[in-house]
Amino acid sequence: MAIRNIVQDGDPILKKKCRPVTDFNEKLGTVLDDMAETMMKANGLGLAAPQIGMMRRFFIVLDQYYDEEDNVINDIYEMINPEILTKEGENTNFEGCLSFPGRNGLITRPQRITVRAQDRNGEWFEMEAEGLLARAICHENDHLDGITVLDNADVFYEDMTEEERAELVLDDYD
Ligand SMILES: [Zn+2]
Repeated sequence: MAIRNIVQDGDPILKKKCRPVTDFNEKLGTVLDDMAETMMKANGLGLAAPQIGMMRRFFIVLDQYYDEEDNVINDIYEMINPEILTKEGENTNFEGCLSFPGRNGLITRPQRITVRAQDRNGEWFEMEAEGLLARAICHENDHLDGITVLDNADVFYEDMTEEERAELVLDDYD
């Protein structure tokens, strides 16, 4: 496995629409493994192919939680050629991106989604996601259409005064 460079703000690749994945080969598996290592090292919750310079429709997301013995569990989902099928409810919160460090945008996302995607072997699966995981999937999915936190947010945490932040009502994830 290897750490990949994460494409940063200003690179035009972040604004382009990605093409579907057609070859489910060994190379794809290697890229997905590298992306997982890169995301974990950068403390991200997700990473999309264009963020490592690949114009293809796939991403990974992290579902982090604690088991009964308080061990951190890191489940990484790989989604290739994803499609968000249903969206329910709303959740408004700040959202960051590894390509835009220091830009945390206030964005409303669905509270619950169902998504359909292929795994690294090309098998289709469907899953439900809620709260932070649903937000991460929507965020990464937007990257595949060249849409970023800069497009989705009108307000950024860093630009607000303390008074403005105090007036905000953010949603819980649970
Ligand atoms: Zn991002």
